[in-house]
Amino acid sequence: MITAELERAVQAALETIEHPGYKRSLADLGMYGGLSADGESLRLLLRSPDADKKAQIALEAQVRKALSPVELPAKLKIRFEVDESLKPGDDGNRIRGVKNLIAVGSGKGGVGKSTVAANLAAAMALRGLRVGLIDADIYGPSLGRMFGLQGKIPLHGDGKNRIFPVEAHGVKLVSFSFMLENDQAVIWRGPMLGKAVEQFLFQVNWGELDYLIIDLPPGTGDVQLSLAQLVEVDGAVIVTTPQNVALQDASRAIRMFMDVKMPILGVIENMSEFICPECGHVSHIFSRNGGESIAAKYSAPLLGNIPITEAIMQSGEEGVPLAAALKEGPMVEAYFQVIDRLAVEIEKYR
Ligand code: ADP
Repeated sequence: MITAELERAVQAALETIEHPGYKRSLADLGMYGGLSADGESLRLLLRSPDADKKAQIALEAQVRKALSPVELPAKLKIRFEVDESLKPGDDGNRIRGVKNLIAVGSGKGGVGKSTVAANLAAAMALRGLRVGLIDADIYGPSLGRMFGLQGKIPLHGDGKNRIFPVEAHGVKLVSFSFMLENDQAVIWRGPMLGKAVEQFLFQVNWGELDYLIIDLPPGTGDVQLSLAQLVEVDGAVIVTTPQNVALQDASRAIRMFMDVKMPILGVIENMSEFICPECGHVSHIFSRNGGESIAAKYSAPLLGNIPITEAIMQSGEEGVPLAAALKEGPMVEAYFQVIDRLAVEIEKYR
């Protein structure tokens, strides 16, 4: 009486229910323990991370309700069995297998936040680190293009309600843009956004990662808040250009991260200087030391200065992050320095 279809329907129902204690879906917690025939009735075994009877009673009611549209072949008995290995414990708000989760934010658009996130990830891969990248910049998801992945990309599942990220230039990637046709405009509303961010974090099979980098939309909004509520972020990195206007916006972004208790790992000053490719002369096109002063204001370190590089535009067009294409030189060195300093900062908050 138990078909694969029935099992799938039951598992799908478990995805829609959140455990009150752990704020994760029952499917995500691994609570499905199987369906079996029990005499005349059907038995659903749910593994419970703890012995909380009250939670189990509430969950049983929710499971029955979620299953009400499903045609069951017999009367359903639901049994709970405590399995403490499912208990997320202190890791409850962390993504399994991911050592460090870093958010990359900026006060406003156009400062090169996505370019920096893409090249930071590519530089980490060059260093042999295992790295994943979430493009959560809903207003202009551009990471797919930077990695040569245009438009709608079919994502494959692992058969356990998780999708595999796409891998390009040594980086595992998921993006809002994978779900959209080219140039399709989508208005994401608060709750939908939160759900999408949650899926990117918990329903992607990231495997073992040293770093998972999340490229946030510019400014201070719903995505930032959802992120802070959903998961323990090891810290935020703020990208800014050296000009004063950019710095004011960067200040606001930093204060918001502080408000949601996210550690500020540091500031990356992008487009700091122009290094002449012919003669190596360094010119400061914009005013100097903006990144440093804002970092000092919030007692955060300046993680690095990324030079202006003409080839960035072209690499964006070609779909290869510049750090992955160049493999060495001043720009790649600047990212390597950021990686070293980041590791030190993260340790300070452990
Ligand atoms: P944001 O994510 O902050 O909106 P983007 O990463 O989309 O910004 O970058 C904005 C523009 O600036 C892009 O055209 C990008 O190619 C360019 N850019 C970013 N960083 C640099 C850099 N270091 N040198 C030259 N151009 C850059």
